[in-house]
Amino acid sequence: EQKVVLITGCSSGIGLRIAVLLARDDLKRYHVIATMRDLRKKDRLVEAAGDTYGKTLTLLSLDVCSDDSVRQCIDSVKDRHIDILINNAGVGLLGPVESISMDDMKKVFETNFFGTVRMIKEVMPDMKKRRAGHIIVMSSVMGLQGVVFNDVYTASKFAIEGFCESMAVQLLKFNVKLSLIEPGPVHTEFETKMMEEVAKMEYPGADADTVRYFKDVYIPSSIDIFEALGQTPEDIAKCTKKVIESSRPRFRNLTNSLYTPIVAMKYADETGGLSVHTFYNLLFNFGSLMHITMSILKCLTCSCLRRRTISPD
Ligand code: NAD
Repeated sequence: EQKVVLITGCSSGIGLRIAVLLARDDLKRYHVIATMRDLRKKDRLVEAAGDTYGKTLTLLSLDVCSDDSVRQCIDSVKDRHIDILINNAGVGLLGPVESISMDDMKKVFETNFFGTVRMIKEVMPDMKKRRAGHIIVMSSVMGLQGVVFNDVYTASKFAIEGFCESMAVQLLKFNVKLSLIEPGPVHTEFETKMMEEVAKMEYPGADADTVRYFKDVYIPSSIDIFEALGQTPEDIAKCTKKVIESSRPRFRNLTNSLYTPIVAMKYADETGGLSVHTFYNLLFNFGSLMHITMSILKCLTCSCLRRRTISPD
């Protein structure tokens, strides 16, 4: 029997790749409902889906920030029956907090946190009634560890991690599974666009030193990290498929084993000092040697945490 999978944010990046990978499943085990805010942006997905479009893949419009849109979309699904809900839609935000408006910060929470909560609130009651279902949430390594100049984005992912950690306990009683996927950097257009915009902007409200640390120190090291450690959206799609197909899916799923030292640091020193000072040194003392430092980190990758990582292959 085919499982109905509904995915948010499928016009690009990771969401698009998950939709295509599941729709192309050899055994046709999934009926994918790929959703996006604006159906005029469907071309790339339709092209990538090939002959699965209209068969194992259908499209619906859904804006995770709108109660009406979410309700209408779910109501239009046959019997409101969704076996697997994949909360992927999300937005990024970079820069010195002083120069970001409160409205822009709230928009990030509206999408990344409340958008996911809105979806879960709409779909979970039916899953609980059926005593079956799997909810997937696209979190991030930044849901576990703060990252300089990603303050608000990180906070939105921490928020959803806390929400899910609490929900998971109750859902276990109803046989509904909940899994977080925690990628490190992923090469999507979104990242390139954000970097280009960032370099052009002026950052009113932030002092000259802060702007310099952001543009001349953080941005170049962030580009280095993306180059050295970045995964592809296909990698994340494969990891997500593995989580869905696991007989006992884990709650937390890091996709990039090179990030396990960062998580290990956090658990190794509960005062937080080790993490804060390591990131300080990485950014301000070894900035230009970022990739060397990252290779040292690779060597430190703790084997027990590596086992907890889900790999794309
Ligand atoms: P992306 O920008 O290509 O994809 C995000 C998608 O969400 C877009 O298609 C966008 O249109 C959609 N979206 C935004 N607001 C929406 C709304 N209100 N309703 C419906 N859809 C909306 O970027 P991506 O990298 O594929 O991001 C997908 C998810 O992965 C996000 O949750 C992101 O936080 C997470 N993530 C990304 C990275 C990375 O480095 N790219 C790393 C870790 C986690």
